[in-house]
Amino acid sequence: MLNATITQRIEITPELVVLRVKPDAELSEFHPGQYVALGLYSDAKRPEHFPPEREPLAPGKLIKRAYSIGSSPSVREYLEFYIAIVPDGALTSRLALAKEGDRVFLAPKITGTFTLHDVPADANLVLVSTGTGIAPFMSMLRTPSTWTAGRKISVIHGVRYPKDLAYRDELSQLSSEGTLAYYPIVSREDPSWKGERGHLQKLFERSVVKLNPATDHVFLCGNPAMIDEMEKLLLSQGYVVHSKKTPGNLHLEKYW
Ligand SMILES: Cc1cc2nc3c(=O)[nH]c(=O)nc-3n(C[C@H](O)[C@H](O)[C@H](O)COP(=O)(O)OP(=O)(O)OC[C@H]3O[C@@H](n4cnc5c(N)ncnc54)[C@H](O)[C@@H]3O)c2cc1C
Repeated sequence: MLNATITQRIEITPELVVLRVKPDAELSEFHPGQYVALGLYSDAKRPEHFPPEREPLAPGKLIKRAYSIGSSPSVREYLEFYIAIVPDGALTSRLALAKEGDRVFLAPKITGTFTLHDVPADANLVLVSTGTGIAPFMSMLRTPSTWTAGRKISVIHGVRYPKDLAYRDELSQLSSEGTLAYYPIVSREDPSWKGERGHLQKLFERSVVKLNPATDHVFLCGNPAMIDEMEKLLLSQGYVVHSKKTPGNLHLEKYW
């Protein structure tokens, strides 16, 4: 059953969209960094110029996928999502046509352990993302309790082209206020880009971003290849992957 309405669609590029979704029921409580499932029925249309989907779906099937929440829990009117359109993907090729007023499925349960729950208030945060993996960090940064006294926060955002740097103005604003260290990095050749180029791993290998496992918690979100490489690098520097059983200072959220 479709139980929520798209209240806003912001196109960052044709392949990257921010959707704000309002549930019919009261919004559940959640923590910054958590995710929830969004869905559409297989009967929803896909753009005609898109390639066929990977696996053809039977009519009437509810397609559900997980999405990190980008808005703060203090915003009660909507949940914000930042979504990459995968042209042969089941759900996002349909979300490509989603517009304001359209109905979607929103799972009632918001979940996930990629949160600041077990992070000491005096630990610094190093928030590392590729592409739409910036979403859970926007929720954290938009929530006042994240900004504990004396804590340093860095955001590293790796994208293909400068136009893919969603939330750049918001992050640059925090950076110009001196509260955030913001490191955007672009992997593809683009003559208009004067900033860092390449894969974000480079910023750590060359100590552009300096780390101290005694004081810093690192969060990695997005592309699994980036997460695997960064995990290897950070384990060699003394980081420990966090889990409920074995608390650590390295937190991972792989999108696929
Ligand atoms: C905990 C969690 C949170 C997530 N949060 C987000 C989010 O905030 N934003 C988001 O866009 N996706 C997010 N994802 C991925 C999302 O759940 C879907 O996998 C994605 O939207 C593709 O769904 P689909 O049905 O269109 O493609 P499918 O038909 O399911 O095809 C999956 C394939 O799409 C590609 N893919 C998946 N995710 C992405 C992506 N983000 N960018 C580029 N290619 C991708 C991969 O090649 C993957 O194998 C999250 C996944 C998890 C597990």
